[in-house]
Amino acid sequence: MKKNILKEIASLKIKIEDASFEYYQLNGSHVSDAEYDTMMRQLLVLEKNHPEFSDINSPTRRVGGIVSDKFLKVEHTTPMLSLANAFSSEDLREFDRKIKDIAENVSYVCELKIDGLAMSLFYEKGQFVKAATRGDGLVGEDVTENIRTIKVIPLVIENNKSIEVRGEVYMPKSQFVYLNEQRDILGEEHFANPRNAAAGSIRQLDSKVAASRNLKMFVYGTNTLMYKELTTSGAHSELLANLGQLHFPINKETEKCATIDAVIAFIEKWTENRNKLPYEIDGIVIKVDQSGAYEKIGYTAKAPKWAIAYKFPAEEVETVIEDIVFTVGRTGQITPNAVFKPTYVAGSTIQRATLHNEDNVIAKDIRIGDTVILRKAGDVIPEISRVVLAKRGVIQQPFVMATQCPSCGHMLYRDETESAYFCININCEAKLISALAHYGSRNALNIDGLGERNVQILFEHNLLKKVTDLYKLSYDILIGLDRFADKSVKNLLAAIELSKKQSAEKLLFGLGIRHVGEKTAKILLEEFKDIRVLGSAKVERILEIHGIGDKIAQSVVFWFEDESCRQIVRELEKFGVNLAIEATKKVENAFFAGKTVVVTGTMVELSRKEIEALLEENGAIITKSISRKTDYLVYGASAGSKLEKSQKLGVVTLNESVFFQKIIERK
Ligand code: NAD
Repeated sequence: MKKNILKEIASLKIKIEDASFEYYQLNGSHVSDAEYDTMMRQLLVLEKNHPEFSDINSPTRRVGGIVSDKFLKVEHTTPMLSLANAFSSEDLREFDRKIKDIAENVSYVCELKIDGLAMSLFYEKGQFVKAATRGDGLVGEDVTENIRTIKVIPLVIENNKSIEVRGEVYMPKSQFVYLNEQRDILGEEHFANPRNAAAGSIRQLDSKVAASRNLKMFVYGTNTLMYKELTTSGAHSELLANLGQLHFPINKETEKCATIDAVIAFIEKWTENRNKLPYEIDGIVIKVDQSGAYEKIGYTAKAPKWAIAYKFPAEEVETVIEDIVFTVGRTGQITPNAVFKPTYVAGSTIQRATLHNEDNVIAKDIRIGDTVILRKAGDVIPEISRVVLAKRGVIQQPFVMATQCPSCGHMLYRDETESAYFCININCEAKLISALAHYGSRNALNIDGLGERNVQILFEHNLLKKVTDLYKLSYDILIGLDRFADKSVKNLLAAIELSKKQSAEKLLFGLGIRHVGEKTAKILLEEFKDIRVLGSAKVERILEIHGIGDKIAQSVVFWFEDESCRQIVRELEKFGVNLAIEATKKVENAFFAGKTVVVTGTMVELSRKEIEALLEENGAIITKSISRKTDYLVYGASAGSKLEKSQKLGVVTLNESVFFQKIIERK
C-alpha cells in the first residue's frame, strides 16, 4: 500500500517537473494548465495525508521555474511568490473563514488575473532602472532592455522616488492573432496562446524582437515593504489608485468587495464576460485590502495567505473528430478543418476547428476518429492542441492532404517556401465566394447580411462576381430572391451604403491581397494615406516601412500590377467608396456633429467602441455619463440605469437600428 503511494507521488513529481520545465523554460508545455493543476492538487493531497513522504524539494513547495543562464540574475527584495488556488465558491468561503479567524475586520480587492508573466520594475530617483522576471521566486532574470520597449510602462515617474512595482506583462489577443498570421507567412510555428507568446518575447536576447511584439503590462502591486512609502492608509486599493496617479497602467476592472459574497458575484460576472476582454485572463485574484494585516495573516513557503487566485474552469475539452474537410480561402489557400459534434468551449459552441495546414496535421498526427483536445488559442480561434493517443483505435488511417481543389478540381500548388497549398485557378468559384464574403466580413467592410450563404446566392444569380458589383445592387434586383425579403434587402442595402464610409484600412484589408492582414493594412495606409498612392508604389519603397517584409511588399505590388485589380480600385472610387485615410476623418454628419453622445448596452452590429469611433468620425463628442447636457443616448440590449436616467432627464434615446438609420441619412 505505502509502496504504491510512494510510487504515485514519485510519478506525479516527475510529470509536474517535466511540465514545469516546458512551461517556464521552453515557453510552452504539452500538458494543459487544467491537467497541471489537477496533478498538483493530487500531489498536495497525497503529501498532506502522508506527511512521512514530505520532501522540501517537492514541486508543491516551489515557486515558478528555473532561472536561465541566458540573463543576468536579479535577487528579489522580497520573494515574488505564487498564489494559492481556489476552484469553487466553497474554496473561497474557506479562504474567507481562515482570514476572519485571524483578522476579523478586513475587506477584499478583486483583480482580474492577467494571463501573462510576472514582472518586477525598479525605479531609482524616479528613473526606470531595472526589470526582473519572477524566476524561482527569490532570484529572477534581468530583462530590463526588453521591458524598456513596452510603451505603457513609464520610464520616468513624477515623485522622484526609489520604488519597486510588480505586475503582469501580457500580449493582447489581437496582437497574438496578428503574430501568428505573420508566423504563417514566414512558415514558422504558431505560439499556442498569448501567455507563451509574451513569455517567448520577453525571454529573447535581442530587444528588437520584444519591441516588435507590442506587449503591454498591468501593474497590480509592489513588494510588501513599499505600502508605507506609497500609501497613507496602507490599503491595497489606495496603492493601486496612487500607482495610477504615477501613470502606471492599472487595470480598471478592479473592484473593492466588502464581503466574500461580493467577491463571488464579481467572479460570476467575469466568468461570463471574460471572453469579451481584449486580453486573456485565467482567473480572479482576491487580496485582503488592509496591508497592515498581511504579516499577521502570514505566508506559506509558496504563497501569501492573504491572497488567493480563483481559477476559471478549464477552457479545453475533449471531442472526437468525425471528419476532416478542406476549405478554399479567399486567396485560394486550402485549409484542412476538423469537424466534430457541437462542442462547447471558451464561451461558444463550435463544430469545426482549423488544422492550419498539412505540416501541422502531420506533426500532431491528427486522424479522423481520434479523440482530441480542443481549445481556443488565445480564446479566439478554435484549434486542436493534441491527440489523446491512449484513446486511438486501430482503424484510424493517417491523414492525407488533398491534391485537387475541393471546389473546382484544379490541381493544387505548393509554394516550397510555405506550408500551404493553393488553388491557382482564377475562376475557382469557392475562392471567389470566399473573397467576396471576406470583403463584407466584420473586420473588413462589415456589411451585415453578406455572409457566405448570401454571397453564394448572389453569385449564382450572376449579381455578384466582384466586389464592385455590390454597389450596383438595388431593391428591385434583390427583392424576391431566396432569403431576401423586404427587411433583409433594406438592411443589406443600408449596410452596403455604410460600407462606403468605412475606413480605408478596412477597405484595403477587405480587398483580400495576400499577406495583407488587418494590421498590415493599417501600417501600409499610415504610410501611404491613400490606396491609390499605395497602388503606384514600388517594392523598394514599400520595403522602407518598418514591419513590412519582402513577401508583403511583393504581394501588394503584384496585386496592383493586375489590370483587373486596378479596375476594381477605379470603380470603387466611382461609387464613392472611401479610399483614403483623411477622407474618413472629414465625414461629418449634421445629426451628430457637435452633439454630446453616450453609448451604452450590448450592441449587435458593432461593438460599443466601434460605435463610439463611428460617432466621433461623424463629429460627435463622446462622454461616459448621462447629464442634462447629453444630447443623445445610443443604447443596445441591457442598457440599464443610463437608459432610465436619460428617460427621466428627457435625453433623446436612439436604439441601435435608429442610430444606423441616422448615420446613413447624414442629416
Ligand atoms: P499562478 O499563475 O496560479 O498565480 C500567480 C501569478 O499570477 C503571479 O505570479 C502573477 O504572475 C499572476 N497574476 C496575474 N494577475 C495578477 C494580479 N492581479 N495580482 C497578482 N498576481 C497576478 O501561479 P504560478 O506559480 O505563476 O503558475 C502556476 C500555474 O501555471 C499553474 O496553476 C498552471 O495553471 C500553470 N502552469 C502550467 C504548466 C503546464 O505545463 N501547463 C506548468 C507550470 C505551471
